[in-house]
Amino acid sequence: MSVIFPPAAVGVLGGGQLGRFFLQSARRQGYRTVVWDPDPMCPARMDSDVHICLPYDSSDAFKEFSNLCKAATIEFENVPSLLLSSLSSKLRVSPSANAVEICSNRILEKSFLKSNGFPVVDYCEISSEEDCRLVPSSMFPAILKTARMGYDGRGQFTVLDSSALLEAWLSLGVECVLEKRLSSEMIEFSVVTGRLDSGQVVLFPVTRNLHRGGILCYSSTICNIDNDVTDQLCHIASLIAQRLYYVGVLSIEFFYDRSKLYVNEMAPRPHNTGHYTMDAMSYSQFDCQQKILCGLEVFQPRKLNDAAMVNLLGDGFSNGVPDWSSLLNSGGRLYIYGKYDARPGRKMGHVTWSGVPEYILDASIEFYRDFYNLEDR
Ligand code: ADP
Ligand code: MG
Repeated sequence: MSVIFPPAAVGVLGGGQLGRFFLQSARRQGYRTVVWDPDPMCPARMDSDVHICLPYDSSDAFKEFSNLCKAATIEFENVPSLLLSSLSSKLRVSPSANAVEICSNRILEKSFLKSNGFPVVDYCEISSEEDCRLVPSSMFPAILKTARMGYDGRGQFTVLDSSALLEAWLSLGVECVLEKRLSSEMIEFSVVTGRLDSGQVVLFPVTRNLHRGGILCYSSTICNIDNDVTDQLCHIASLIAQRLYYVGVLSIEFFYDRSKLYVNEMAPRPHNTGHYTMDAMSYSQFDCQQKILCGLEVFQPRKLNDAAMVNLLGDGFSNGVPDWSSLLNSGGRLYIYGKYDARPGRKMGHVTWSGVPEYILDASIEFYRDFYNLEDR
C-alpha cells in the first residue's frame, strides 16, 4: 500500500468525538482535515479545515469530499455501506464497506462470529410474530436488540417471557436478535485492535468496563482477572481482525460470565473504552487509525501507565457545567467534546487518570461516585 504523506487531506464520515479525535491526530501530523457531517454543530468541525455540512446522500457532498480527500475513514458504523463502496472507487477508504456492513448489523455480525467458531451468547433472529412464538422458554430472561442502528443500549428491551417478547417486538417492528441475558455477575471487557493491509495486527491492552443502563460509564486497564483471560481476549480479538480481513482500527467487546467468555459485538472504529490510549500509551487508537489509513508503519503500542476513564454523560450536567476544580487539581485529564445540548445519556466528555494503580483507582472511583451521585461503587 502506498504511503499518503502530509499535507494531503484525510476525511472522516461522522463528526462526533471519535471523528474529532481522529482529525486532531491527523492534523498534528500535518494532514489537512475534512469532516462530512450534516450537523452544523458537530464537534469535529472544530478540528477540520473543511466541514461538509450536507446529508450523506448528497451528490454535491460526495463530489466535494472525494475531490478533497486522498483517504477517508468513519467514526460510526451506521454509514450507508453503499456510500463507502462508492467512495472507495475514488479514494482510499478503510475499513471496507463489507466489514462495516457486518459490524453494523447484529444478525450478520453474530452469524459471522458463530460461523467462524467465536463464542457468542445464545441468540435467535426475530423478524416475525411466528419467530417470537417459536422461542423456547429456556431463552428467558432475554434481551431483544434491533439488528441495526442500536448504540448505547438504545433499541434494546429486556423480556422475561414469550408474551413480553411479542409485545416488545411488535412495538419495534424491525429485524431483531434475541439474546439470552447473562447473570448480574457478568463482567465486560474490550480490546482495541489495529490491522494493517499487510495482515499485521497490533493490540491495545484490555480494559474492564462498567455500563449503566447500556451506556459505558467507567473503564480501566486494571482488569483484576487472571492473565489467562486477558490473553484469551487478545487472541480472539486478533483472530477476528484476521478473519474479517480488516484494515483499520477494530474494537471488540466481550462478556465474561461464570468463567465463560463471549464476544458481544464489534465496532469498526476506535472505541470509547480506548480513550485512555491518548494518555497512557506510546500512541493512541486514533493515531493508529490515521497511520493505517495512510499506509504508514505501525508497531505494537507500548503501555506507559495504567489508566482509568470516567465518561461524562449529560446526566451530570443537569445543574449546568460541573465544578471541575478538585478534579483538575487531582491530576485528572479532562476532555470536553464541545456538544451544546447535555441530554441525559449523551456523552459530553470524559476524564482520564494515568499512573500507578492505587492512585488512579482512588481518584477515578471518588470522582465517579461524586459525578453520578452514588453512595457506593
Ligand atoms: P450497544 O450497541 O448499545 O453497545 P450492546 O449489545 O453492547 O449494545 O449492549 C449494551 C450493554 O447492555 C452491554 O454493554 C451490557 O452492559 C448490556 N448487555 C447487552 N447484552 C447483554 C446480555 N446478553 N446479557 C447481559 N447484559 C447485556
Ligand atoms: Mg456495546
